Amino acid sequence: MKFLLLTVFIFFSFQLSAQHVHDRQIEFPDIPGYRTLKCDFHQHTVFSDGHVWPSIRVQEAIKDGLDAISITDHIEYQPHEDDIPHPDRNRSYQVAKEEAENKDLIVINGSEITRSMPPGHANAIFLHDANKLFVDDSVEVFRQAKKQDAFIFWNHPHWTSQSPDGIASLTATHKYLLKEGLINGIEVVNNVTYSDEALQIALDYNLTIMGTSDIHGLIDWQYHVSHGGHRPVTLVFAKEKSEASIKEALINRRTAVWFKNILIGRQEYLVPLIEQSITVTAASYNNKTSVLAITLENNSDADFILENSTKYTLHGNADVFTVKANGIARIEIKTIDKIGDLDLKFRVLNAVTAPKTHPEIIWHVMVE
Ligand SMILES: [Zn+2]
Ligand SMILES: [Zn+2]
Repeated sequence: MKFLLLTVFIFFSFQLSAQHVHDRQIEFPDIPGYRTLKCDFHQHTVFSDGHVWPSIRVQEAIKDGLDAISITDHIEYQPHEDDIPHPDRNRSYQVAKEEAENKDLIVINGSEITRSMPPGHANAIFLHDANKLFVDDSVEVFRQAKKQDAFIFWNHPHWTSQSPDGIASLTATHKYLLKEGLINGIEVVNNVTYSDEALQIALDYNLTIMGTSDIHGLIDWQYHVSHGGHRPVTLVFAKEKSEASIKEALINRRTAVWFKNILIGRQEYLVPLIEQSITVTAASYNNKTSVLAITLENNSDADFILENSTKYTLHGNADVFTVKANGIARIEIKTIDKIGDLDLKFRVLNAVTAPKTHPEIIWHVMVE
């Protein structure tokens, strides 16, 4: 009896702790050939206009289960400098890096180049020395970042303070920077905003699709984490978990963005991510009927909203239904004749591969 009670207790505690960890840690499966790394490459601290010390950014990231972060304080905008003077623009990175020592989090040196439009704001990450970005000329500063072999992405091109209509659009300066290879990526998601136009620019100019928190205050408050919210992250499909691998993946545009309940990315990475997230775990006919019951298991943090695009109709659902994050959904398909296998086809309405475009995924199902 004692043993049984202990077993029950251990089981129950494990369930509770697993549940607890799951609530906050952002989880997506790996895709064939690559690890799926959760990253936030745009964050502020008191070293520019943020409200926290860099060590807090590291602790938040670990709570969220992130693999890598970048601290990107503004080079040119230092509203706290009377109280916290810091001529060395690498300091916030160094403090965060020290905090992350012996922890499973990669911290990447970055800075936000902060100019009026055009070109607006851009992040340079994988910098060797952020101080070298004190350059007056708005194009030369990009060249200086490139000299350090930085990965540069255009921040919030749809930010209404600089683009009052909320539309991301290219100026002659941006086109020049693109032509010179001085912009590698673009934020399609910044903080709580999304831009179809920025996504289209990413596709047109072969840029890396990025999504970041651009957090200034606390992640918990901004994203209501205690109520199930999460920060936007860039999912990086890297060969391994290392700074060099992340950089290689970013340069080769192997990313997707997880924002609210939306996944945004190129078809070639989003489709395998969804295929790995949802598994068909059972398929059999209901007793004495030709109604096929199928169980779908979702091992990701996204609630997948699926639209039936097979020729069959469903029993118990209309054509759109949800497979909850880390949950199971049971659907019933009226195949009329009993069949041995079928291609289960769904459009994934909360996934975006281009403006107003949702990928279709096919699961080949063998009936038991
Ligand atoms: Zn900015
Ligand atoms: Zn920023």
